[in-house]
Amino acid sequence: MALEEYQRKGNFRRTPEPRGRARGKRPRALQFVVQKHAARRLHYDFRLELDGVLKSWAVPKGPSLVPGDRRMAVETEDHPLEYAAFEGVIPKGEYGGGTVLVWDRGTWEPLDDPHTALAKGDLSFRLAGDKLRGRWHLVRMRGKPRDRGRAHWLLIKSRDAEARSDDVTERETASVLTGRDLDEIARAGDRVWSSRSGERDGPAIPPPGDPSAVTGARRAALPRRIEFQLATLVDDAPADGEWLHEIKLIRYLSHTAHR
Ligand code: MN
Repeated sequence: MALEEYQRKGNFRRTPEPRGRARGKRPRALQFVVQKHAARRLHYDFRLELDGVLKSWAVPKGPSLVPGDRRMAVETEDHPLEYAAFEGVIPKGEYGGGTVLVWDRGTWEPLDDPHTALAKGDLSFRLAGDKLRGRWHLVRMRGKPRDRGRAHWLLIKSRDAEARSDDVTERETASVLTGRDLDEIARAGDRVWSSRSGERDGPAIPPPGDPSAVTGARRAALPRRIEFQLATLVDDAPADGEWLHEIKLIRYLSHTAHR
């Protein structure tokens, strides 16, 4: 399903969900995310990056690490890549209204051509996340009733060293981003996402901005260690722009000039 459908359904004035654009292919690793979503019914949204969007399935019972466990996965709208980092509250009455927790995140690797495999309805892939790892399958069910035109798939863990016999959704309930559970995110919700700007509300964490715009920034690997810097006592706090500049440099560790 196209990103347009997601954007049509979302109200981007009132919803803190980020709005995104479909982007071209990139050489870097493809990301995956599983968002635990307390909407009308609790479910897990399983999303795989492909062609600049997040291919998405709603998994009512969530993924299982038990090989052969077949978890129903209903195909849903593609989501923008930026949504993979979204954790918070979607206002009630809006598309996907409820609490969203980033349950797992990492990279994925298709084992065959993903476009052919998805068209065929049989996708084999590898996940490298915190909670979900190893080989997996997504298999489209044939001849099953479709839910408003949405295909039903099965999400299945393959038998490998990353398989487990216990219930991972019961064992693991915390956000991989913040360690919070759904209640904590919901409680923090109006603090984090309260009104400030039209799109993203609250005394929220300011959007990080584009690191490549920082003077002296250069794309580089994450350094193995960061050298200590001497602090100098001053009388006044630096001007806004200056310390934001510093924070951006530190946050992205993408500079070499600042020594
Ligand atoms: Mn959902």
